[in-house]
Amino acid sequence: MYLSEKLSGVLPLVEKPARYIGGEWNAVSKDWQKTAVKVVFAFPDVYEVGMSHLGMQILYHVVNQRPDALMERVFAPWPDMERQMRQNRIPLFSLESKRPLQDFDIIAFTLQYEMSFTNIINMLDLAGLSPRADRRPARPLVIAGGPCAYNPEPLADFIDAFVIGEGEEVLGEIIDLWREMCPPGKQVDKKDLLRRLAVLPGVYVPALYRVEESPDGVRYVVPADGAVPARVVKRVLRDMDAAPYPLAPVVPYLAAVHDRMMLEVQRGCTRSCRFCQAGVIYRPVREKSPQLLAEQARALFKSTGYDEVSLTSLSTADYSRIQPLVEELLGFLGPCGVNVSLPSLRVDAFSVDLARQVQKVRRSTLTFAPEAGTQRLRDVINKGVTEQDLLSAVDAAFAAGWQAVKLYFMLGLPTETTADLDGIYDLARAVLEQGKKHRVPKSRLKVTVSVSCFVPKAHTPFQWEPQDSLDVLKQKQAYLREKCREKQIALNCHDPYLSMLEAMLARGDRWLGQLLYRAWQKGARFDGWSEWFKPEIWQAAMQELDIEPAQYAGRRYDYQHVLPWDHIDAGVSKKYLIAEHKRALAGKLTPDCRGGRCAGCGLCPALEIRPGILGGEQLVPLPADIF
Ligand code: SF4
Repeated sequence: MYLSEKLSGVLPLVEKPARYIGGEWNAVSKDWQKTAVKVVFAFPDVYEVGMSHLGMQILYHVVNQRPDALMERVFAPWPDMERQMRQNRIPLFSLESKRPLQDFDIIAFTLQYEMSFTNIINMLDLAGLSPRADRRPARPLVIAGGPCAYNPEPLADFIDAFVIGEGEEVLGEIIDLWREMCPPGKQVDKKDLLRRLAVLPGVYVPALYRVEESPDGVRYVVPADGAVPARVVKRVLRDMDAAPYPLAPVVPYLAAVHDRMMLEVQRGCTRSCRFCQAGVIYRPVREKSPQLLAEQARALFKSTGYDEVSLTSLSTADYSRIQPLVEELLGFLGPCGVNVSLPSLRVDAFSVDLARQVQKVRRSTLTFAPEAGTQRLRDVINKGVTEQDLLSAVDAAFAAGWQAVKLYFMLGLPTETTADLDGIYDLARAVLEQGKKHRVPKSRLKVTVSVSCFVPKAHTPFQWEPQDSLDVLKQKQAYLREKCREKQIALNCHDPYLSMLEAMLARGDRWLGQLLYRAWQKGARFDGWSEWFKPEIWQAAMQELDIEPAQYAGRRYDYQHVLPWDHIDAGVSKKYLIAEHKRALAGKLTPDCRGGRCAGCGLCPALEIRPGILGGEQLVPLPADIF
């Protein structure tokens, strides 16, 4: 029976069959026979999450633009669909041509979140492929990129090659190499292919590196083959205006998590929050010109018909031409009934004013992220936000008609004390008082305090820091629950066990591949989803493999250690990260280099690039003795 016939038998039996049918508006179906290189983009989470991912839309556009290549899409099947697929022997298939993944030349995963790693193993297994890279043939080649590729080791057993940095830069070169080495029908020697891949800038091939161990048990990676680089340096797009951008993105049939046009205004953020990995790996800041953004907004509206455009970036209010851009967009999109939205707000009155201009109806809650409860701890993490900034922002929000505010904090940040926990409650109380001052009706006034657990990430100034133990995190959450008893303060705490696993994988080594595989064998799937996350599976797998969470999540590294991810070069120097770590412990702030003072992170000279800020200010290097 053909796959499409089998599918029509199972789709009526699963929740949301639209996740699996493809054929959406703007989806691209190319002639399979006439196209030389076939790539499938694999998103290791459900359709609605994957379709909200701008990176997928960008790479889909980049590859399908080429006459010699095609890209189709596949998402992790929800457990009900997986059951049907296994029962009916339906291999994992692409949405466009409904072909099994085995028919493709390249399977390209994106790694957005550590807790989707077991879905990658599951998708390879559902595709009828061995999850282990060393047991697979050259075709299909399994590659992966995205933020989690900056510590690739936990997935090193499963992936043939990792792309470090911005995929638009590298994927085309991988396709070119594939065309040259692997024309249709040709038997490919996988070792030869991997060797050629490993010398492409920005490509890491784990099979050509081996693991060594320090006397105190830190496993790190060195080249096993003299021809491969000791460090793989990230690739960076130099000119955002010249970069390809999808002006006719695929419009899902099903409401996606972010169901709107996405207009990327800039890439990178140099605010240097010391816990933030995105701030390091997407450096430096590169802005697009407002003229181009206006053109792109018009084209997106024409091709999609969405009624909302989201101005995306790590920190949209930092875009140097944000005010004129918003005015221009509202000028031509407003009369067409299209809203403009800002996904993230800075903690200041300017951002609230922007939100006020674009959001005519104050439906939603306004969200701010002070991250820590006291000024002392905010200085440690380099979050340049004062209590006064927050109070001015909420004052402006309540004055503009909002009635509910959400505050994001992190628990377990380095140097945290009970006073910092008290500070979280005190800030929430102060915000509540502002609401009362503005006479927000009691029944409507609400302050939601959302508290995640600090996860130390590779390539950040906090990469050496341990995570609090599970018991300590639970005690801190209980302390906060005890404090936040007012009816109008709602406290949401993240699952500390999930955060512990995330921390293990975020700073894990190659040994953790076994844990992922064992957990998957025992049934781990969709671990980031509370309804599917089963801590007992992970506990049992760790027991079997004699893995202690404290070895990983709770480990404090020394500056002298060669770290498990040190062979991956994010462009920011280790010297700078050490200096930033010391400045954190001393409570010293580091300025944003967009202000014109280079903080010496090393990226611009290393990658021969300059931050692209439209103000045209000259960057003045800080004195060499700043640290
Ligand atoms: S080298 Fe200087 S200007 Fe460039 S990103 Fe780093 S701190 Fe900013």
